[in-house]
Amino acid sequence: MTTSQVCILGATGSIGVSTLDVIARHPDRYGVFALTGHSRMDVLQAQCMEHDPVYAVVADGKQAAVLQSTLQSAGKQTRVLHGAEALSSVAADERVDAVMAAIVGAAGLAPTLAAVQAGKRVLLANKEALVMSGSLFMDAVKVSGARLLPIDSEHNAIFQCMPPGYADGLASVGVRKILLTASGGPFRQYPLDQLAGVSPEQACAHPNWSMGQKISVDSASMMNKGLELIEACWLFDASPQQVEIVVHPQSVIHSMVEYVDGSVLAQLGNPDMRTPIAHALAWPERIDSGVAALDLLQVACLDFESPDVERFPCLRLARAAAEAGGTASAVLNAANEVAVEAFLSRRIGFTDIPVIIDDALSSLPAETVRDLDHILQADRLAREHAATWLANKV
Ligand code: NDP
Ligand code: MG
Repeated sequence: MTTSQVCILGATGSIGVSTLDVIARHPDRYGVFALTGHSRMDVLQAQCMEHDPVYAVVADGKQAAVLQSTLQSAGKQTRVLHGAEALSSVAADERVDAVMAAIVGAAGLAPTLAAVQAGKRVLLANKEALVMSGSLFMDAVKVSGARLLPIDSEHNAIFQCMPPGYADGLASVGVRKILLTASGGPFRQYPLDQLAGVSPEQACAHPNWSMGQKISVDSASMMNKGLELIEACWLFDASPQQVEIVVHPQSVIHSMVEYVDGSVLAQLGNPDMRTPIAHALAWPERIDSGVAALDLLQVACLDFESPDVERFPCLRLARAAAEAGGTASAVLNAANEVAVEAFLSRRIGFTDIPVIIDDALSSLPAETVRDLDHILQADRLAREHAATWLANKV
């Protein structure tokens, strides 16, 4: 068997670490070509020691010099690069077969697009990249012939439940709608009048999943589900109306596909990202992920409820952006990134997050996307708008 060379963008994060865990179980099948990190240099150093990548990529020259010298002293051959362009160049390197896109937020867009344009197998965790650049991203996939495999557990589940040929339109393969499940996060039943005062620690304590801070806050506000709604529309060529959000607190069913004959197909599993990661790495084959078998007798019952849009205004905002189309999703995403960062650094309260996003969306009307620069401009304007809101409030 030839070894598939993998580049992990965002290796030091939650998805990156889980990806390396799966890869390490299959040393004959996967090789680590490049690992990238941004601030957690201790983690990246340990990963380089263990996995011997050809390249490591860090944010700046100072970090690069320190890591390069440590690795050299340990007799390692890894070459350390730095900067945004290096991220794109390792992702597009001709020796790479698969790219795990697991940088958080808009920073992941350029290297993920570079991997797509180079026609790689792209394992997409970085949903913000697709939300920002939807049509451009999907057009680039078509032009290059890249194989896009969703890592987000819901989209991976939907992918597993879709019939072949879904790319030609959901109606043509008898799919009526997508049922996107949501855990409801830590505040599903939290007293509504106390939501404004919750701390970043409370928001990051997700009941079922262990994840990075940004996506944890997104899950608590349910903006994560809003971003996933937009992600599902692009990945499966669905309209926002064809995607129904269903709250399922146990996170055992990862999403479902409803067919015109009344059949509903679901994918189930323990809430552990190594399952979708292993699925996407090996597809169309299957490999061991290290995840324990699902014990349905232990789970015993599966609950479902409608999402509470009063409690979670981000759901309404994301649906509105999905329906508006054009640059609206980039504005939604950028304003959300600024608001989440401000919440994590305790500059604003939890319930200010949707207020900031709403303000940006209503001040920056959706425009038809012209090109990547246009998307980056919408992203920049939304960030400036949110920063002004913060400056006036704080
Ligand atoms: P983490 O915060 O744990 O990791 C983020 C990664 O991105 C880290 O490697 C970080 O480096 C790197 N990074 C951060 N900022 C930059 C930057 N400006 N330039 C380059 N690299 C950067 O996040 P997660 O792993 O939880 O999530 C990653 C992506 O996957 C997100 O888009 C998220 O929505 C998505 N996702 C995550 C899931 C999960 O279960 N965790 C589930 C589904 C999707 P460093 O740590 O060194 O600073
Ligand atoms: Mg998800």
